[in-house]
Amino acid sequence: MSESQQIKVVDAFDLDDELRSLLKPGEMLRDAHGRRHRLPRYFYEVPSHDSAVEIRLTPHFGINEFIFVDLREAQRLQQFPRYVPCAVRMLAFFLEQFRTAAGGSVHIAVNGGYRSPAHKMAIDGSPHMWGTAADIYRIGSSILKTKELIDRFNDVAEELSDDVVVMPYGHETGKTVDDHVHIDLGYLTVIPREISEDRMEVPQEHRPRFAFEERRKRERRVPVVAAEAEKTQ
Ligand SMILES: [Zn+2]
Repeated sequence: MSESQQIKVVDAFDLDDELRSLLKPGEMLRDAHGRRHRLPRYFYEVPSHDSAVEIRLTPHFGINEFIFVDLREAQRLQQFPRYVPCAVRMLAFFLEQFRTAAGGSVHIAVNGGYRSPAHKMAIDGSPHMWGTAADIYRIGSSILKTKELIDRFNDVAEELSDDVVVMPYGHETGKTVDDHVHIDLGYLTVIPREISEDRMEVPQEHRPRFAFEERRKRERRVPVVAAEAEKTQ
């Protein structure tokens, strides 16, 4: 297994001060209804543009599609290494199901995947800050700008699972949509199995807390002999 196929997982408490102040790991945030939610703490670290293009979360979704932002994102967070909450993998899984049900390729808008708490579009705590929401502006050749198309694909999304939430068609920012379909899974956080949750408080020195997520399936099915041989290389 090459290094590039592994995704580094970091505890955001171990990142530098500037990154921590932007990502706000573990901080409580109010949503539009006044309910409080805890921001994610474990992130995938994407080292470079090339790796962002290369890392696939599911067959049809690369990690790059979820971190595509414009100047409204904090400047530091536009630079590599980039960070995206680990729950993005769950979102990609649902989008893969959505793609099949919708019958066309699913295109996520700029700023339509993960948005940090420092992003200028981040007003109330929205699931975009958890990496569990996607704004889709095109499906196949259909640009989602009409009530008819948005209603239709909202129905497709809601049929997938009771965990999926969409926004109705309308013109009220943050509550309704008129030029995309918003799909979210709510305030879902993921703690990768490779991470140990032994210290929940503050960063500790001399012990960086990160892990490389074991890629599942194909790599895991590699025969033991081949895997052992690879380890010794
Ligand atoms: Zn959205």
